[in-house]
Amino acid sequence: MILWKNGFIHTLKYEDEIHYKMATEDGLIIGFDDEIKNLSFDQEIDLKNNHLYPGFVDSHLHIVGYGQKLSVIDISDYKDQSSLLEYLKQQVNLNHTFYEGYHNINITKDMLNELLSDKPLILRHRDYHSVTVNDFVLNETNLKSKTGYLTEDDAKLVLAKYQTYDHQDIVDMIDKSISKLYQYGITGGHSDDLFYFNGYHDTLNAYREVLSRKPFRAHLLMHYKILDDYIKAKDKFLDQNEYLQLGAVKIFYDGTLSSKTALLYYPYKHEDHQGIRMFEKNDLESLVKKVRKQNLPLAIHIIGDLALEETISLLKKYPPRKGLHDRIIHASLASLNTIKMMEHMPLIIDIQPQFITSDLPDVLDLFSKNPEYIYPFKTFLKHHLTICGSSDAPVEIPNPFLGMYAAIYRNLCDQSVFQESERLSHYEALKLYTTYANIPTYKANRGLLDKGYIADFTVLSKDFLKLEADDFFKDLVEMTVINEKIVYTK
Ligand SMILES: [Zn+2]
Repeated sequence: MILWKNGFIHTLKYEDEIHYKMATEDGLIIGFDDEIKNLSFDQEIDLKNNHLYPGFVDSHLHIVGYGQKLSVIDISDYKDQSSLLEYLKQQVNLNHTFYEGYHNINITKDMLNELLSDKPLILRHRDYHSVTVNDFVLNETNLKSKTGYLTEDDAKLVLAKYQTYDHQDIVDMIDKSISKLYQYGITGGHSDDLFYFNGYHDTLNAYREVLSRKPFRAHLLMHYKILDDYIKAKDKFLDQNEYLQLGAVKIFYDGTLSSKTALLYYPYKHEDHQGIRMFEKNDLESLVKKVRKQNLPLAIHIIGDLALEETISLLKKYPPRKGLHDRIIHASLASLNTIKMMEHMPLIIDIQPQFITSDLPDVLDLFSKNPEYIYPFKTFLKHHLTICGSSDAPVEIPNPFLGMYAAIYRNLCDQSVFQESERLSHYEALKLYTTYANIPTYKANRGLLDKGYIADFTVLSKDFLKLEADDFFKDLVEMTVINEKIVYTK
């Protein structure tokens, strides 16, 4: 039995509920303060006047993809063409051919050919849906592009050819990713990886291997393309072991804003199209029927407002089994009408508040007519929708403080506030990454601190509810605890 003492223990059952001592045993909380005063303990942990919270959870990220980002050359700091070309010139001499995090700053294949013509050179865009490549790559893949820009299926083809990983690479990337997540105070994550790398079996086995020595609450979405592997394997939905769950079936309804493929009510500015649907209507309906036949919920990537309305209509027609809920990943844009339709449906929305600070105002520039709602977090809450906080790492840095900052302040790069009325309070922002982010696990004992709840904690040097804007950029995580074990200390 462990005693956690000398700290401020914030239960998040109520905004102001605090305890000062807590007992845990076998990975669970057994009580607080007076009710534990007669117990004897094997170990005492001094919280040193720090503040302890339920463990932070990222409700949508790509753990393997983030591990990969930590292992490749990241060019997301370069926002100017000539300085990036100068940097690439040095790097290609060192035989590096693959770069990630590219801001679309109009680099063409001709510029890349000049740097390197007898080997592949690939810039993966920040949206993860596109690449810019040199002629060497185009020739080897038989793809055509005047500028070297390739998106969606073409980009996937390039990645499949040039980014190959063996089992140990996947293990290493998961390991690296989780180590970094610990530093951000993260104790669990809902990840979409089972298709993109080595497929269902190998990726799942890599997770099993890492989690057997490295505690972390991993909840894995199942990309629709590996659904047959899951069915054949006769694995069960949700719990595989205390650290590993299999979750909803991931599908994409539309694309992204930066590549103008998110499906909107109105055409993009200076364009005659409104974005794309990833599926033909009939194909999507039969896929949804197949998923429902397996009694599984869906996790659907949706960015555009029209995409959201169409998906909600589809889900109304094919609801999940009673007790389950579907997940909408992103829901960046919405109409009031759709939000009202969603109100009484078994739905959870995985939001990425950091998109406000990173994408706007560039995104606003894409619309011929502004959508009714853009990242409407407060409106979602007002309509009783469950929203979970996430980073979509490697798209954004999986530091929950950056997400909470964006949700609270909605600050753009020029420091103006984007829609004051949609700002969340500190407490609401904290709930996104704790209580709410655990709802999709279907576990009743996560996300708060109470008797019988799991002993997953994030310990901060300051009282979260009193943080000022600058504090969110400081390293406040003192300790990360999973299943009673301290996995990280500063
Ligand atoms: Zn994602």
